[in-house]
Amino acid sequence: MEKKTGSYPNIILIVIDALRARNLGCYGGDAESSPNIDNIAEKGILFEKCYSCWNTTDQSLTSIFSGRYPRTHGIVHHGDKITPEDLKIFNSLNVKLLAEILQNTGYKTFAVDWMGRWFRNGFDYYGYKPEKTFFGKLFYLIFTLPYVHLRYIVANIGLLKIYAKKRKTSIRSAWKGLRDAWSTFRFTFELARIQDANYVTSLVEGLIKKEKNKNFFLFLHYWDTHSPYNCPKRFVSKTRGSRKPESLFLSKYHGAVRYVDNSLGKLMTVLKNEKLLDNTLIIITSDHGESLIEHSIFFDHHGLYDVTTHVPLIFYHPDIFPKSKKIKGLVQHIDVVPTLYDLLKIESKDFACDGTSLLPLIRGEKEEIRSFALSEESYVQRKIGIRTKKLKYIFAPDGVGMCNYCQKIHKGVEEFYNLENDPHESVNRFHDDKIEARKLREKLDDLLESLDNKRQKQMNKGKRKEISSKYGQNLKEAKKVKRKLKSLGYMD
Ligand SMILES: [Zn+2]
Ligand SMILES: [Zn+2]
Repeated sequence: MEKKTGSYPNIILIVIDALRARNLGCYGGDAESSPNIDNIAEKGILFEKCYSCWNTTDQSLTSIFSGRYPRTHGIVHHGDKITPEDLKIFNSLNVKLLAEILQNTGYKTFAVDWMGRWFRNGFDYYGYKPEKTFFGKLFYLIFTLPYVHLRYIVANIGLLKIYAKKRKTSIRSAWKGLRDAWSTFRFTFELARIQDANYVTSLVEGLIKKEKNKNFFLFLHYWDTHSPYNCPKRFVSKTRGSRKPESLFLSKYHGAVRYVDNSLGKLMTVLKNEKLLDNTLIIITSDHGESLIEHSIFFDHHGLYDVTTHVPLIFYHPDIFPKSKKIKGLVQHIDVVPTLYDLLKIESKDFACDGTSLLPLIRGEKEEIRSFALSEESYVQRKIGIRTKKLKYIFAPDGVGMCNYCQKIHKGVEEFYNLENDPHESVNRFHDDKIEARKLREKLDDLLESLDNKRQKQMNKGKRKEISSKYGQNLKEAKKVKRKLKSLGYMD
């Protein structure tokens, strides 16, 4: 693909952290929660059944950007649990991220987010701190940061009180709780400031106004729907009746959805005023959902139930895509970048994506592109799950005894749900439907085996590349020495 400024659509990828599909009006939720997102979905393509590949941010986001399952991109842990081994494997797997590819294609690439590390790869700008002058930074450090930090900590204390009631305490869990509280405290320095949709949108507005004459790719990460769900009070509806702290956090989550949606409306106005809506492709999704109180999991993304894996996926462009289309086929995050590469005619066979282009679904040439969705977890406990449109099988190959998050022992437990009769996954039918469950397990085993083989192949390829580049380096050095020796008259 040649560089032709202005000839390709701008692309805005919006990830709203921990947003459950079911909380949006366009996915059957409360219509007052999301009028702006509903409006975009109404004019665009809505994928009814999109499932995340992992239930936590780092793994899932890397899948969105690479088109690969975490098994084949290498990041299989989360936050401060990411090991040097993960990063070594990620580097050896020759993973190409969307921003890198678009940057090579001539796009100006920018992101408003704080996660950094490998997510920065391919971005011309990546960050969220607009204060550039000395006094601006000073004001930020003395006034803004302590205020937002304090607000965030107060909200987290409310959550910790709920956890303390719901989780059984032992010396081990208390020690773990203290460690978690410390890592949350450090985490808040980064997350607290960016957990404000209007702040994020205002940064984006500045970037858009500056870069609007070039083809740009913008990655935008809203964090308001991530715990502790801070949002302006006017968006939180008063909890009637129940005064339980859980009710407050439920209202706060719903308020955070409304606040992000409201801010997205502002972003759309900016795009309209800057006359960018005619040639901007907008993608809206979330990295994973959230269990609010379901399955005895309180305000966390733990487990592989649909509340945590079912995510929104909406595409919008006024010309490229048909209007008001709802797609019923199963899709996963790994299908997003293959779709973009297909659309932009970027040769992608070397990227080893696990996903498939969604264009045949969008154009109505196919009804289904996949018969299953794979999701995994390594956050609290290890779980692997596979779902078809009607059935779901989950198993936990290993674990650490009693789970402190939901007071269950997961290790060795197999779960099987008939989603047609039991959409809330409340009755585990594994012992009643063993034959059906076994069939899904076999499918899952085949899938995991093929992904692990693919990963091994990629790693071998990476090693070969490393050896050949070392060999190339040695060859260059040898030639240099030879030339030197020649010039000194030691060789013919
Ligand atoms: Zn997340
Ligand atoms: Zn658990």
